[in-house]
Amino acid sequence: IVSRPKKSVWKRIYDKYFSKELPIRTRFFNIIFACGFLWGISGGTACIMLGSTKMAIMIGYSMAVLFPGMMIIANVSSNFQLLVTISMQLVNFVVMPAIYLSGGGIDCGIPSYFVLGLMLNLFLVDGKTGIVTSALETVWYAFIYWISFYKHFIVLEIPGAKFTYNAIWSNALMVAVLMGILIREIFRLYQKENLLVNQTIKKLDELATIDPLTTTFNRRYMYDYLGKKIDSARNDGVPLSVAMFDIDHFKNLNDDFGHIVGDNVLIRISAVIKSYCQNQDIVARYGGEEFLLIMPETNFEEAKERAENIRCAIESTKFDEEINRPVTISGGVAEFSKSMTAETFVDTADKALYKAKGTGRNKICAG
Ligand code: GH3
Ligand code: MG
Ligand code: MG
Repeated sequence: IVSRPKKSVWKRIYDKYFSKELPIRTRFFNIIFACGFLWGISGGTACIMLGSTKMAIMIGYSMAVLFPGMMIIANVSSNFQLLVTISMQLVNFVVMPAIYLSGGGIDCGIPSYFVLGLMLNLFLVDGKTGIVTSALETVWYAFIYWISFYKHFIVLEIPGAKFTYNAIWSNALMVAVLMGILIREIFRLYQKENLLVNQTIKKLDELATIDPLTTTFNRRYMYDYLGKKIDSARNDGVPLSVAMFDIDHFKNLNDDFGHIVGDNVLIRISAVIKSYCQNQDIVARYGGEEFLLIMPETNFEEAKERAENIRCAIESTKFDEEINRPVTISGGVAEFSKSMTAETFVDTADKALYKAKGTGRNKICAG
């Protein structure tokens, strides 16, 4: 009998409310509101120890119930964003001012929570609603400050100046630390996601442009690139040449030594051609065992010479031990002229290649 490993309660709670898979807003809403529980407990306890009013103690502990309560309600709701908006307003319009007025007003540390409340509202409430409610909250807080100054009887006094001093600095410290952690965490997640997105884009870009076997460019990219180079050749009159290469009797090689050996030959040959690339040159896998070398700013004579060098290099390359005969390539070179399109340009090189094949192979012909 195989018993399924049971997830611990903590793991289940983590997966449900704090998992990295959750959207960033949902996750932070849950984290912040779960922190409300700890604040409530520690705040209430601190009030008892510091001999604060009954009201302040009660508010402290009710926060310990209220915050996780709202978190659970928001998470079981089908409209998460709406409940987040409502609970943030509840916190900022009711809970924070209540704590402020019952905790000694302007003399206590609560004003720093107002800042925190505003920041969270901007962060957690979507779009325009977040901005409008934050603006309203600012007005509301200003009003609460005003009333605590000029209608002082509304404020529940806390005995002893020492408490006031402690409350202010400890609250400011808590808020500062929390804000710091929050911003740091958001920044870290943002950077991580950004990196992932960039890596994915790069990967997709590679998949869309690179031939996986030979790591030369694919035909699609080749035509994109050639199109651009043709434009500048047409407009600025700079020379542009291509060379089409095809492995000689490659089918026999495959038949005699197998496809794996054939693949390795393809890899080696493409590496040799790549190693001959200069500044703006690119190599593309045109077909199964055909490669096109694009040579911008290169005239016909230079192109022919470079194609010839590549042919020689391949002829003298040492391939697998078991291949007991030289592996050679044939090539056709063409220079762009203004009457050509990309297709007819490549076709000219292809015809030259065909000529090389028909007249003995292992040679370069001109188009
Ligand atoms: P030629 O000298 O006239 O070019 O003769 P060839 O045998 O090279 O020409 P052909 O076009 O008849 O054969 C090309 C062969 O290339 C056929 C195919 O099996 C092989 N080929 C194409 N793509 C791949 C590949 O990705 N891997 C391997 N191993 N072989 C490939
Ligand atoms: Mg061939
Ligand atoms: Mg071929």
